[in-house]
This record gives sequence, structure tokens and C-alpha cells, in this order.
Amino acid sequence: MNIHHPPLSIAALAATDPEIARLVEAETAYQRDQVRLIASENYASRAVMEAAATVLMNKYAEGYPHKRYYEGQLFVDQVEELAQTRAKDVFGADHVNVQPHSGSPANLAVYTALLNPGDTILGMSLPAGGHLTHGWKVSATGRFWNAVQYGVHPETHLIDMDEVRRLAHEHKPKMLICGASAYPRIIDFAAFKAIADEVGALLLVDMAHIAGLVAAGEHPSPVPFADAVTTTTHKTLRGPRGGMILSKKKHQKAIDRAVFPGLQGGPHLHAIAGIAVALREAQQAEFKTYAKAIRENAKALGEALVACDFSLTTGGTDNHLMVVDVTRRGMGGGRLAKALAQAGIVCNMNSIPFDTRPPADPSGIRIGTPAVTSRGMGPAEMRTIAGWIDDVTRHIDDDRRLAAIAEDVKVFCRRFPAPGIPA
Ligand SMILES: *Cc1c(COP(=O)(O)O)cnc(C)c1O
Repeated sequence: MNIHHPPLSIAALAATDPEIARLVEAETAYQRDQVRLIASENYASRAVMEAAATVLMNKYAEGYPHKRYYEGQLFVDQVEELAQTRAKDVFGADHVNVQPHSGSPANLAVYTALLNPGDTILGMSLPAGGHLTHGWKVSATGRFWNAVQYGVHPETHLIDMDEVRRLAHEHKPKMLICGASAYPRIIDFAAFKAIADEVGALLLVDMAHIAGLVAAGEHPSPVPFADAVTTTTHKTLRGPRGGMILSKKKHQKAIDRAVFPGLQGGPHLHAIAGIAVALREAQQAEFKTYAKAIRENAKALGEALVACDFSLTTGGTDNHLMVVDVTRRGMGGGRLAKALAQAGIVCNMNSIPFDTRPPADPSGIRIGTPAVTSRGMGPAEMRTIAGWIDDVTRHIDDDRRLAAIAEDVKVFCRRFPAPGIPA
């Protein structure tokens, strides 16, 4: 599967709207010349981009294949069915809905399908590594449902299953939610399922970050345990922006109704076509190699950072990301993330569990290897990157030094063409 191709032509765009064309070109060069360590980002293949930039965006197709409200669905029905068949094949699910516009709407759809407003949900808190949509107070999910939150153990930073069990028995949630945005370890879905069963709760697993690892067998699958599994399609799965819901057969009707007409109108068929292509790529042997390399790279990068006297929450990583406590290097994660970006290394600041620093400059940064691995970088390159991160902390106020590192980063990146972007 060759994913290195020349760029999509933007000749018509440049003629019609030079301002947007210029920005697209600038962003293309930016994505080419930076070391992208944002754990939720990736490089979609040229094939995925081509599928998502087609006349499929002209279609209205409210409903589901063969049950639409408009005529003229001959071909788009087949597009959606291919996406469904491939998703079921890749993840082994009974049912899939490929229409959610993204990960957050997918979660909202599951709540809408399986809960009543005001029901109690038990999810992982945002500061511990969970997602906004697992009931955090600024999210609609924390307003429309009675959200109780679990965290991680104060010393190990691992999900505290004793706390999950205690809260589940105390609050009797109608739904238990697991899955995370900033948690570097394997999640024990069987243990969550056991607790859900003890209290008669439904289990929702949100595998947005790890879907590509699950597809490749590099993280245990939640599908056998969960009533519903939600995911984004644009993180480790390396598709276009989108969402999916996998579920048990018995929830099919309720979930389909919640997505349409409950929350959305017409599906984004161009995105669904891109998702189908990404799933086809995920079926190939190369994708297994890719997912394995993501984890090897994360391990190598984590070990190299520890050797530079950074510390990692939980002491390491089993997946594609790590949360790095940078305070031992005498700064906060906000300041470091900004300086790293100046040096051509892009990540995000992140709270660490039980953080005592303010959210605007927390103790950590979150780093992930999906994007750099898509460029074919390996453990040796991870050590080079760790060296630059170390360098940036030593010269954090030296703009010239940071600019010099950015030049080195650019030359380095040239050796690793990014999928979908010209070398
Ligand atoms: C990214 C993410 C989402 C939401 O995805 P969006 O596409 O940004 O709405 C949901 N859950 C988890 C765990 C995520 O990491």
C-alpha cells in the first residue's frame, strides 16, 4: 500500500480563492516540516483524502442504506454499506453506525440512545486523562446527565479499579464509561465489564485514541465486553475526521435512531467514503506493522526522555502516548510546549494527575507517536527527538537557539516523507 503520493491539486482553489489556497499550502508545508507529536493527530493517506474530497459531498441521504428519505441513493448506499462491512470486519462488532460527525457526537448519541436525561453516568474525570464527553462539567454530558467521576491512583497514576467499584456501588450508575485521551496504559475492559455487571450498568467504551491499536491487535479489544464502543476515525485509525459507534445487536435500533433523526440530519458521505478507505487500509498487513511500530516508538521516546531526567506518569507507556512531567526541569508544560513549537516540535501541554499547577501552565506535556510513525520514523529517530526536547528545556529563552533547532528539525523531516504530502 503506497501512501506517499503527490498532493491533491488545488489549482481551482487557487484561482477562486487565493487566500484559502495560500493557507492550505502553508499548512501543508507546516505539516511536512514539523515533528508532530500531538497524540490525537496523524497523517491520512492520499487515498483517504481523495475519497473525502469527492462529489459524495453533494449528496443528501437522510436515513440508512435502503431506508432513505430521498431518491437517488444507488451509489451512496453502497459506500455506506462498504464502510459498515469493513468496520464490522476490522473490529468484530455485531452492528456499526458510521454516521456520527465526530467522536463527541458519537458519545452523545449513545447517551441519547441508552439513557434518559438525568440518569447517572460514571466516567473518568478529565484531569485524570478522561474526555470532556465522559461527564465533565463544562460538557453538555455533564449538564444533561448526573455525572460521577473516577480518577487514577495517587501514587501509581493507574486507573484505580477499587475506586471505580466503590463509586459504582455507591451511585448505581445506569452507564459506566471508560476510555481516555491522556492515559498511557492498557485499559482492562474485562474488569470494567465485571463492575458494570455487579451494579447492573451498561458499559460504554470510548476507544477514540486507541482504535488503530485495537484494529491491529496492539491493544485488547473492548468489543466483546461493551454494550457500545465509540471511536473517532482520525486518530490512530488514520482516516478522515469522523466517528463511529459499534454496538451489540440489541442496541442497534436505539443507537441508529439516536444518531438520525435524534441528533443529526444527513450523513457526510464524503467522510464516510474516507472512513471506508481507512478501514480497508487497516485490513492490510502493513497496518499491523504500523501499529506495532507506534508502540515501539512510544516506548523508545519515553525511555529516552526518562534518561534526560523527565518523568512519565505511571512510569512509562504501553500504548501510543505518554504524559511527561516536566517540572523537574524547572518549568511548566505550557511554557515548554510553546518553546517546543518554536523549535519545530509540536505537542500539547497537559495536566498530570493531582496537578497542583494551574491549567494554563500545568506540570506536563502529552506526547504521542502515531504521526511520526506514519512517516516511517523509528526508535533511533525517537532518541534524536528526545535529544531536541532536552535541548529546548536547556535553552528555553534563547529564541535563536530554538530557531536553529527548528532548521535541524526541518532537514531531518525531509528524510521522512509524510503520507499525503509531497516530499
Ligand atoms: C478525541 C476524543 C473524543 C472526541 O473526538 P472529537 O472528534 O474531537 O469530537 C472522544 N473521546 C475521546 C476519549 C477522545 O480522545
